[in-house]
Amino acid sequence: MKWAPIQECKKLARTRRGFYKCAGCEEEVPASTKIEGSRRRTNNVHVDHIKPIIDPAVGWTTWDDCIENMFSELDNLQLLCTACHKAVTDEEKAIAKDRRGFYKTHPNEYPCYTSMKGRCNNPNKSDYHYYGGRGIKVCPEWEDSFLSFVEDMGPRPEGTSIDRIDVDKDYSKENCRWATHKQQCNNTRANTYIEYEGVTRTLSEWCDFTGVSRGNLSHRIKNQWTVGEALEVDPSPSRREITERLKQKQKLEKLNAESE
Ligand SMILES: [Zn+2]
Repeated sequence: MKWAPIQECKKLARTRRGFYKCAGCEEEVPASTKIEGSRRRTNNVHVDHIKPIIDPAVGWTTWDDCIENMFSELDNLQLLCTACHKAVTDEEKAIAKDRRGFYKTHPNEYPCYTSMKGRCNNPNKSDYHYYGGRGIKVCPEWEDSFLSFVEDMGPRPEGTSIDRIDVDKDYSKENCRWATHKQQCNNTRANTYIEYEGVTRTLSEWCDFTGVSRGNLSHRIKNQWTVGEALEVDPSPSRREITERLKQKQKLEKLNAESE
């Protein structure tokens, strides 16, 4: 943004070529730093509003306030190094978080609720693929109301997170419980994702899709069939081939055990 006071602020904070004085830690800091393991450099100084554009303690008010704060004059600007800028931003975020009601009243449950909705509804989330991407939804009662979520689930015991009993079904009162990580791992169905040519589905989805029975499919995978063979896309391996693969696997396991 070419708002003149920003250039002015940078100019005033400049100490010498490539160096600026940070208004937070009051150190002289380089304008850019090397990115570790790369030849590129990243910007290390940031012109920041002293009074934030949106007051974290109040939240959004009007566009006029927002614009007025954004295009503020030099006396509301400061130059910060990356570390100080992050510290200020984190502090503001914490204030804003505290302001929002459900974080305050249900600090243990609300983050679980928001991340659950994110996984199911926001394609930008890294794990969307396994949830929303597979058609897993949040039931309408919970989708609309955090309070009915809390009412149905009860308080979250420490060390637990939300677990679906049947991993192929939606998030709902009937299908969810609070469970520890260990409990969730023991829920073996949670782990039976199978990838084939870039498509990840659960075991049961592959069964529906290909008509291979569940028992057959898991038996084949355990017995070293490739996914293509197990799904009957590729021809089945011969008995001799299977014996060969099992031997190979045992050999590998033995080697691994010895090297540990
Ligand atoms: Zn600093």
